[in-house]
Amino acid sequence: MTDQEEIARQTLQKYWGYGAFRPLQWEAIQEVLERRDSLVVLPTGGGKSLCYQVPATMREGMMVVVSPLIALMKDQVDALRENGIAAAAINSSLNAEEKREITSQIRNGELKLLYVAPEKLCTSGMISFLQQVKVSAFAIDEAHCISTWGHQFRPEYRLLGSLREHFPEADLHAYTATATEQVRNDICEQLKLREPRVLVGNFDRPNLVYRIRQRENLDRQLSEFLDQQSGNAGIIYCITRRKVDELTERLRDNGYSVTAYHAGLDHETRVRAQDDFLSERTEIVVATIAFGMGIDKSNVRFVVHTGASKSVENYQQEAGRAGRDGLPADCVMFYSGQDFMTWRRMMSDLTGESAEIAERQLERMSKFCSSLQCRHRTLVEHFGQEYEAESCGACDVCLGEMELMPDSLIVAQKILSCVVRVEQKFGADYVAQVLTGSRDQRILSNGHEELSTYGLLKAYRKSAVRGWIEQLLDQQFLMRRGDHQTLAVTDAGRAVFHREAEPQLTRVTQKKTRPDRAERGSGQLEESARELFEALRTLRRQLAEEQQIPSFIVFGDVSLIDMANKKPTTSAEFLQIHGVGQKKAEQYGEAFLAEIQKFTASEADEVSASIPTE
Ligand code: ADP
Ligand code: ZN
Repeated sequence: MTDQEEIARQTLQKYWGYGAFRPLQWEAIQEVLERRDSLVVLPTGGGKSLCYQVPATMREGMMVVVSPLIALMKDQVDALRENGIAAAAINSSLNAEEKREITSQIRNGELKLLYVAPEKLCTSGMISFLQQVKVSAFAIDEAHCISTWGHQFRPEYRLLGSLREHFPEADLHAYTATATEQVRNDICEQLKLREPRVLVGNFDRPNLVYRIRQRENLDRQLSEFLDQQSGNAGIIYCITRRKVDELTERLRDNGYSVTAYHAGLDHETRVRAQDDFLSERTEIVVATIAFGMGIDKSNVRFVVHTGASKSVENYQQEAGRAGRDGLPADCVMFYSGQDFMTWRRMMSDLTGESAEIAERQLERMSKFCSSLQCRHRTLVEHFGQEYEAESCGACDVCLGEMELMPDSLIVAQKILSCVVRVEQKFGADYVAQVLTGSRDQRILSNGHEELSTYGLLKAYRKSAVRGWIEQLLDQQFLMRRGDHQTLAVTDAGRAVFHREAEPQLTRVTQKKTRPDRAERGSGQLEESARELFEALRTLRRQLAEEQQIPSFIVFGDVSLIDMANKKPTTSAEFLQIHGVGQKKAEQYGEAFLAEIQKFTASEADEVSASIPTE
């Protein structure tokens, strides 16, 4: 290990309380220390912030961090200060006095990191001010926002193209979780990076368990899932605002701790929803995709999609908000073929190339949903990387929860025949009803109970048959036509009648397996430590509320688990806990040690009381 690497490691331990770098962090830090431009692509939760924060504390002068959202800056600055690092943010929410204070800190060279939004940074006043002080480097967070190829283009990011000119001495570093080649090249070009070193991390997130299910009865499917998650923080995504409102209300009526978030709500309501979630006053946020960017809460334990995402990139980002702390987290998607129609409707104002890109992305997403290939592998390969392992042990496919129907061909033939028998004039729901032998009035008045295909699949639930129809649509053996979305058989579908093509239909297997979590990563809470963990969680919430910062900034779940397992009794032992740096040990050590002490004492009392006296 070089001297520099050793110093960086000590910095990490001293301020953050972490014992080792994650993959590529050291390489990324080295680029900043050696003042070479760089582009770092790491998945969400990969630890991008440390890639510039660690060297910023080691280098002379102040680093300017460009970040798109005020909420995001605020959390980052709070977290840095909690760790004893001088940081501040300049944005529109500051009052005159706060602004003066920060300005004088900058002039006096007291700050290590300054967070600024791009539109603010690129004003002439700000640029000439920063030219007078010593800016060592720029870190551009969420750098994909500069590219129209990305999924979150923000026009104000384009202004950053002028940084190179205004600050020829400073080195530039870009960070993103979006890994497509096009976006990567675009970032380097737009920012005019000078022969940047491009570091691309491994896109797999082994601690996330992915499951994709056909949506049958959402409320039932959702409550089955949520009931295993009691007390955990999670996000539930819906495609439309209306769905968000409706679902929030239903969940609230059923006693869940939920709040809604979408762009149609006023600013104040949104800020409150976000605050409640960060400070753990509410467990679950039901939201459109407007929610998430800028939420760097590390202990989100699950992300549910109640409909398909609009692209695989979006899915990776949205699901990726779970488990940033590296502990196991669940990602479940309940989808239906209808979702893609909904997206098409919502994106109908796109034209030309953007419309084509959007359509291709929907198609890939649809394939991803219905495929029977390992989810981890599919995601990793989608981002142009190789996946080595045979089985991931952490997705519905590898866990054996999904299986190929042994008689796919026959079931498919029955469905396709039925579509022909109703003269290709009815929709998916109706066809499923006929096949399962429904006595619905519409069917009887059409005389369809007389058809040879009536009741052919009555051994199965209607929702299952409905699911297979979607799969046949996905695999293009069926298509939808006209305003009424009636089903029709394609040429490929006709080939199925002659056994010249074979659809692959899947179903959920009955056996319920849970992944063996003990095998996956550290940070497992020992069963006997649960009670203490809960007590520490309460203490964390109180301390966070007193200071009006989010709980996870006080300590992440990994730290609390480590404390509950190890039960430190001295400050020296406390410093050994994951995520405890010097500043936090001084600030919180006493409170947490006291809580642990109280707990172990009462346990000892219980034990001695239970020992029979002679
Ligand atoms: P990203 O921006 O890439 O999504 P963050 O920088 O927010 O990721 O980091 C995610 C979480 O991982 C944070 O809670 C952070 O403190 C933690 N983390 C980052 N690097 C390390 C490390 N080397 N050891 C332990 N935890 C880390
Ligand atoms: Zn898998």
